Amino acid sequence: MSRYFDAIIIGAGQAGPALASRLSEAGMMVAIVESNLFGGTCVNTGCTPTKTLVASAHAAHLARRAAEFGVVLSSDVGIDMTRVKARQNAVVRQKREGLERWVRSQANCTVYQGHARFESAREVWVGDEVLTADKIFINVGGRANIPDLPGVDQVPILTNTTLLELDELPRHLVIVGGSYVGLEFAQICRRFGAKVTVIEMAHRLIQREDPDVSAAVQAILEAEGIQFRLAAECIRCERRGADICVGLDCKSGPPEIVGSDVLLAVGRRPNTDDLGLEAAGIEVDKHGYILVDDTLRTTAPGVWALGDCNGKGAFTHTAYNDFEIVAANLLDGESRSISDRIPAYALFTDPPLGRVGLSETEARVAGKRILIGSRPMTQVGRAVEKGETLGFMKVVVDAGHPRSGNTRDRGRRGDSRNSRCNVRQSKMRDAEARGAYSSHRLGTYSDHARPTPATEVTPKKTPSARSL
Ligand SMILES: Cc1cc2nc3c(=O)[nH]c(=O)nc-3n(C[C@H](O)[C@H](O)[C@H](O)COP(=O)(O)OP(=O)(O)OC[C@H]3O[C@@H](n4cnc5c(N)ncnc54)[C@H](O)[C@@H]3O)c2cc1C
Repeated sequence: MSRYFDAIIIGAGQAGPALASRLSEAGMMVAIVESNLFGGTCVNTGCTPTKTLVASAHAAHLARRAAEFGVVLSSDVGIDMTRVKARQNAVVRQKREGLERWVRSQANCTVYQGHARFESAREVWVGDEVLTADKIFINVGGRANIPDLPGVDQVPILTNTTLLELDELPRHLVIVGGSYVGLEFAQICRRFGAKVTVIEMAHRLIQREDPDVSAAVQAILEAEGIQFRLAAECIRCERRGADICVGLDCKSGPPEIVGSDVLLAVGRRPNTDDLGLEAAGIEVDKHGYILVDDTLRTTAPGVWALGDCNGKGAFTHTAYNDFEIVAANLLDGESRSISDRIPAYALFTDPPLGRVGLSETEARVAGKRILIGSRPMTQVGRAVEKGETLGFMKVVVDAGHPRSGNTRDRGRRGDSRNSRCNVRQSKMRDAEARGAYSSHRLGTYSDHARPTPATEVTPKKTPSARSL
């Protein structure tokens, strides 16, 4: 059987549903195909469940600190994992079902449940039906990368998906990967009471951040009892009775760690290997990410790729921003592109780490003349009042920017050519207000940071930063 639509959307993750809504509102007949759960990674196995766990873990942490705030608990703090998981599942279910109801209620939108596969650049198989359209949008996301480490296929390995399914907390969780996913799970499990060891192949955590940021995050997590093994080489796994032994070669420390469970958090890979892309003439890079131009068009005319599968972002708000770009260009006569996008993201440890724009290292590598301002959270009034004084703020600005502003309370705007951030300046130490390259914050509060090196950085075109 064959059916014609104006547009086909493959995947109901973070870009697909919103695009389906805009296109169908514009009067187009739309088919949206989802092979698994509405909401994709973010809603089901990514942002939403992990952030509910971050919240439970934070509650436990705060309860343990209750006495600092003059709060007296009548018993020790305990964790009821059944209720933690029930809360997580309830929040996820509500989001997923709400999204699915909304998509299904769109006037001109037909939902297909099944795996989509290209027959050509205009045709897509779903089950035994062929759907045809002049415009096809791919939003298939990604999944956990399982590297080919020795022994990895001989032991039970956890991913972000399967860890969330556990009914019991791991006794000793060994996490391979010291970046965003690994560190969030590390702190969550530690705060629930697990022993946690993080193994990282690089010499420091979250390598895309500046070294001072990596060091501060590591120190904060170590203070909670998380152990780190950095610069780990030759990582391998084997069974050791009921436990799993992870072998590693490091310059210091024992050559193996025996834990009850192992989580692999070493990146993602796009869900593009079973899409029939070759049949449609859609090219991918060596990692399987779909090649797109600045407006998200693939190498096949009439086919776009949005979200994690194009390798241009790895966040919910970048996937959603892809939708905004495509919709604005197709429906609103705009000419938006991904090169206008300001990098903005967060790591939801506690305190969280947020960054907008270039890091100091990136600015230096790009040959920028920069000024740097930073302030420890111990000098932020609100942070002191709330007892959340870990971390620091840091701002990187263009030293050559002609704009100056030096009043403490009246903000001035420095519009940087590169990061395109608008910076409202308070007084800057050693500097007048200049174009900002970036703002970093590892800490919980910034609203009382005056006088400061710099404050308040907002993107010019704001992506839907649900998680920021
Ligand atoms: C543990 C974890 C925590 C995270 N936390 C955050 C966070 O706090 N903030 C943040 O911004 N980002 C976070 N992310 C990243 C975020 O989840 C992703 O960037 C986002 O989900 C990408 O959206 P997407 O629409 O590109 O893909 P997805 O959300 O993965 O959606 C793709 C959809 O396509 C479907 N699909 C795949 N192949 C086919 C096919 N052939 N046919 C039909 N359907 C198909 C899939 O079933 C899926 O529903 C996290 C990720 C992980 C793993």
